[in-house]
Amino acid sequence: IAKYRDVHKSFGEVEVLKGIDLDIGPSEKVALIGPSGSGKTTIIRLLMTLEDPTSGTIEVNGKNLWHMESKNGLVPANEKYLREVRGDIGMVFQHFNLFPHMTILENCMTAPIHVKKERKETAKKRSLEMLEKVGLGDKVDLYPNQLSGGQKQRVAMARALVMKPKIMLFDEVTSALDPELVGEVLEVIRDIAKEGEMAMVLVTHEMDFALDIADRVLFLNDGVIEADGPPSEIIENPESERLQDFLSRFT
Ligand code: ATP
Repeated sequence: IAKYRDVHKSFGEVEVLKGIDLDIGPSEKVALIGPSGSGKTTIIRLLMTLEDPTSGTIEVNGKNLWHMESKNGLVPANEKYLREVRGDIGMVFQHFNLFPHMTILENCMTAPIHVKKERKETAKKRSLEMLEKVGLGDKVDLYPNQLSGGQKQRVAMARALVMKPKIMLFDEVTSALDPELVGEVLEVIRDIAKEGEMAMVLVTHEMDFALDIADRVLFLNDGVIEADGPPSEIIENPESERLQDFLSRFT
């Protein structure tokens, strides 16, 4: 579902990603771990088209993210094409990014209506279903500032799910939460993961959680993928010293 080929990304003089090759299969659940500043967030921001690569290519669902086919071969993507590609991708951020002046329900309905041009009733029905799924069926008319951090994060998930993405990206979604609220958010992600069909990429510092839900763990270090394998290998029986050293900080 997602394919990175020799992807490099620099910010000014600093090369943050140094040649990423990565294939993520449909319905695969991938945890991305690694030290602070290793480039984890950048990898998923590239997939969400929030950043463009300095070089290399990224495809989602067979479509190149930044270039589209035309009579004259590949040309830079236009807004319409990008919107279409983004339709397959959902993202949940560390800091919720909800619209404060909209109710919880309106927060979920706005993208299907304005981006996908769906009918209001259709968008409303699915938004209510998704809010129910994340356990907020009784909060739909409240505003974001009336919710706890964990509840806000669950709204952010419902809002992404409403768009029926083929791949969902989670960027350290629990790291801004009070410890007692982390569990409820992880529980919802676990439920979504169990449903199965959607691919998921999670940047996380929760090793137990990664061990529990991921099919595959990537260890990113200094802009390269240093280890890639099942959690039983990467987290439970790490080979490299650097990975062992990184993991030892969590025990
Ligand atoms: P953390 O776990 O701390 O979030 P990370 O592995 O997600 O780290 P990234 O957020 O991908 O790391 O950042 C990698 C490096 O790129 C960092 O050194 C960061 O300062 C730098 N960086 C990220 N975004 C930008 C930007 N827009 N402009 C300049 N530098 C940036």
